[in-house]
Amino acid sequence: MMILVLNAGSSSLKASVVDAQTGAVELDMEGSRLLDAPQLTFSDGTEIHLQQTGHAEALHAGLSSLKKLSRNVKLAGVGHRVVHGGDVFDCATLITDQVEKDIEALADLAPLHNPVNLEGIRIARTLFPDIPHFAVFDTSFHHSLPRRARTYALPQTLMEEHGIRRYGFHGISNQYVAGRAATFLKQDYRSLRLISCHLGNGCSVTAIEFGRSIETSMGMTPLEGLVMGTRSGDIDPGILAYLNRQTGMSAADVDHLLNRESGLKGLSGSNDMRDILARSTDGEEGAQLALQIFSHRLRKYIGAYAAVMGGVDAIIFTGGIGENSPIVRHRAAQRLDYLGAVIDEDRNQRLQLSTGEDVIAFNRPHSRVQLLAVRTNEQLAIAKECIKLIDNEQDVNRLPAIPVAISARHCHLTRETVDRLFGEGYELTVKKWLSQPGQFAANESVTVVGPKNQLERVRILGPLRSVDQVEISRTDEFFLGIDAPIRESGKVDNTPGCRLIGPKGEVDLENGLICAWRHIHMTPADASHFGVQDRDVVEVAIRNDERGLTFGNVLIRVSPDYLLEMHIDTDEGNAAEISSGDTGVLDTSAAEGQLVRRAVSFA
Ligand code: ADP
Repeated sequence: MMILVLNAGSSSLKASVVDAQTGAVELDMEGSRLLDAPQLTFSDGTEIHLQQTGHAEALHAGLSSLKKLSRNVKLAGVGHRVVHGGDVFDCATLITDQVEKDIEALADLAPLHNPVNLEGIRIARTLFPDIPHFAVFDTSFHHSLPRRARTYALPQTLMEEHGIRRYGFHGISNQYVAGRAATFLKQDYRSLRLISCHLGNGCSVTAIEFGRSIETSMGMTPLEGLVMGTRSGDIDPGILAYLNRQTGMSAADVDHLLNRESGLKGLSGSNDMRDILARSTDGEEGAQLALQIFSHRLRKYIGAYAAVMGGVDAIIFTGGIGENSPIVRHRAAQRLDYLGAVIDEDRNQRLQLSTGEDVIAFNRPHSRVQLLAVRTNEQLAIAKECIKLIDNEQDVNRLPAIPVAISARHCHLTRETVDRLFGEGYELTVKKWLSQPGQFAANESVTVVGPKNQLERVRILGPLRSVDQVEISRTDEFFLGIDAPIRESGKVDNTPGCRLIGPKGEVDLENGLICAWRHIHMTPADASHFGVQDRDVVEVAIRNDERGLTFGNVLIRVSPDYLLEMHIDTDEGNAAEISSGDTGVLDTSAAEGQLVRRAVSFA
C-alpha cells in the first residue's frame, strides 16, 4: 500500500510517496525557504521556484505538483507528522474535523509546529479529499511516561491549569528504532530495556522499558535535555530570571536565545556536528569544548536512564550524528563497563550504515549490553502507522466483549516462603477455584508489613510459584508507605520488598511487591480474533451508566491455558464504578470491556 507522508514545517516541507511494506520511496519532494523564496525539489529532477507568496500558497503549490507527478500511483492514505499531541492523542489517529480542532487547540504547547502542521493537513485534505488522512504524533509514544517521570516539581494547580508536564518528543523515531533493534537482536521488544539516543539537529534520550517509554530527556517543549544544534538543553532555570535582571532580556528574547542561539552553535559558532568535529581535530578550542559538553551530557543521561531501569540491554544511537559519527558514539559509550557495555572500537570506526544495512552492532562479543547504530526512518514509521489504522478500522467494531474481573490485593508464594510462614511442608487449602484454570484462592492469608502500616489478611493465591510476588493497589502502597512499580506478573527484578507475617514465622522479601499491570488473559484463538499478539498493549473501554471509562496500557497475555478475561485492581474497578461485591480475591465478570484499538506496536 502506498502512503503519502507529509511533514510540514514553518519554512520547509517534506513529502514522500512511500510503500508502507517495503519502505521504497516512489517520489520525494523537499520544499525550502517557504517564507521568502520558496523552492521545491522533486526526486525525479523537477525543480520549481515560486514568487514570494506566503506559507499556505507555497504548501498548496508543492502538494498540487506532487499530486500531478504521482497521478499514476494509487494512494491508500496520507500520513501527517504532527509534533504535539498533548494529553489528547496517545496514538496515531484518523483525521476528522474534530481532530483538526483538537490539534488547533494544542497550538499553545507547540506554537512553532502545530499551526503549520495543521495548515499542511487542511490543504492536503482539500487536494486529496477521497482518501483517509491520519495524524501521527511525535509525543504519543511517551504517553506511557509514569507520573513520577512526567511531572515537574511545581505547584500542582499551576501545572494542571496550564497543561505543564513532560510530554517528550522524537517518539516516532524512538518507536521505529526500538523495533528495528529488537528485530536485529532477534528478541521481542517487550523483553528489552533500551536506551535510545536520537542525535540529530534536535537531540533526546529515551528509556524504553519492556516496550514502553518510561523516561525521556525532552520535556514540555523540545528544549530540555541534551545539548542540541541550536538549543541549550538543560540549564539552571534561575539563569532566565538572572538574565532578565542583568540584561533586561524579555521572555521572547530568552526563548530565542535558548532555542536558536545556544547549544553547539552558542558554544562553537556552528550547529553542524560535522563542522565541529573537523574544527576540533584542527585544535580549535570552542569546537573541542562543544564536543566535550555534548558527549558529557549524553553520558550523564545514559547512566541516569540505566539507573532508572535498573540496567539496560541495548543502547541505540540514531539521527544524523548517532548514525554517522563514530567519534560521538565512542565518547558516549566508552568506559561503560560498569553497566556491562563494552565498546568494540574497531567495529565502531569501521562499520557504516548503508541502505542494505540499517543496524550495526559495535560492542565486543562478551559485552552484556548491545551497542547499536540504527538508521531511523520516520517516513516509513508514519506510513506503517497509517496502514495499521486502515487495517484496524475494518474490524474494531465487530469484536466481542471481554469479561472484566477485579483482583483484590493478594500474593503468590514459593514453597520456601510458605514453609517459613506456615511450617515445613504446609499445604495451602482451596477456598475457591478461580476462573483461570488451575488457580485458586487459598483459605490462608498473610500480613504484609510496610514502613508506615500493615495490611492484614492478604489472601494467598495458589498454586505455589517459583518467585514470591505481592500484588497491591496504589491506595495500598500509600497506606503501607512503599513505592512499587507497575509490573507484569513475574517481573519482580528491581522491585521493593516487604515483610510477610504468617502464623509460624516471618519472611523479609528482598523484592516482589508490585502494582499489577492491568492485563487481559486470552487464548491464541482469542488473540487472532482480536488481531493482537502476546504482550501487545491495547485500550479497553468500559461502558457503564455510572462512570464508564477507557483504560489505556492494557497488556495482552496469551496462553492456551488462559480464559478470556481482563484483570484490573480494586482502585481501577472503583474508578470505573464496577461493583466488585464481596466475593473475595477475584470478582469474575463484574463488567464487560470493549477492545478499542491498539495503542503501541513496533511492527
Ligand atoms: P534532523 O534532526 O533535522 O533530522 P539529522 O538527523 O539529519 O537532522 O542530523 C543532523 C546532524 O547530524 C547535524 O549536526 C550533522 O552535522 C550531523 N551529521 C550528519 N552526518 C554526519 C557525520 N558523518 N558525522 C557527524 N555528524 C554528522
